[in-house]
Amino acid sequence: MNIILLGPPGAGKGTQAKRLEEKYGLVQISTGDMLRAEVAAGTPIGLEAKAIMAAGGLVSDDILVRMLASRLSKSDAAKGFILDGFPRTVPQAEALDRMLADKGLKLHAVIELKVDDEALTDRIAGRFTCARCGMGYHDTFKPTLASGVCDACGSTEFVRRADDRRETVAARLDAYHAQTAPIIPHYAAAGILRPVDGMADIDEVARQIDAVMATL
Ligand code: AMP
Repeated sequence: MNIILLGPPGAGKGTQAKRLEEKYGLVQISTGDMLRAEVAAGTPIGLEAKAIMAAGGLVSDDILVRMLASRLSKSDAAKGFILDGFPRTVPQAEALDRMLADKGLKLHAVIELKVDDEALTDRIAGRFTCARCGMGYHDTFKPTLASGVCDACGSTEFVRRADDRRETVAARLDAYHAQTAPIIPHYAAAGILRPVDGMADIDEVARQIDAVMATL
């Protein structure tokens, strides 16, 4: 099964992608995680992306398309993937269509997490992640069970994304509405757009996604 999780920053794409990965044996491909790894490693792509990401803008289509093409050609992608954070522009969506056609692969569904903008800033500003295993948390909506200890791996080290500050969130939402939302009609026309209510709690969103998966 090959799926896109689409939605604004803070909609819950990463959380749901991790769950889908475990439940359905798919591989999560997060272009945001890939770019953050490039930034951390100080590669030429990372150097180019760093300031753009910190400002909440989008990194160039050229870089992203090349990055995704190389990721999709790794062998694990053949068992099925969840794209999280890609495509984010119409040219990226068109490039993805070409890449998949070249590989003889099909896109089964574009699951759109629909969330009101007002809810997103609070969701994003409270996010943090376990530095060791990557489990995602939120100060208000999903705290760790024991204070300061990761539920999944017991680590006491956590990280917060540099672009999750309130000041940057508005720019990221603007980028979503101006550049990413225009890809929605592309997938609606292809008959594979499947909207779910991203305002519901995490388990309910998961249930709605499972209902979509059951039809594929
Ligand atoms: P994310 O983790 O998906 O929220 O992505 C974090 C940041 O990485 C975004 O705000 C962009 O600056 C950059 N980014 C991630 N994916 C893409 C993409 N497909 N196209 C352009 N920029 C991207």
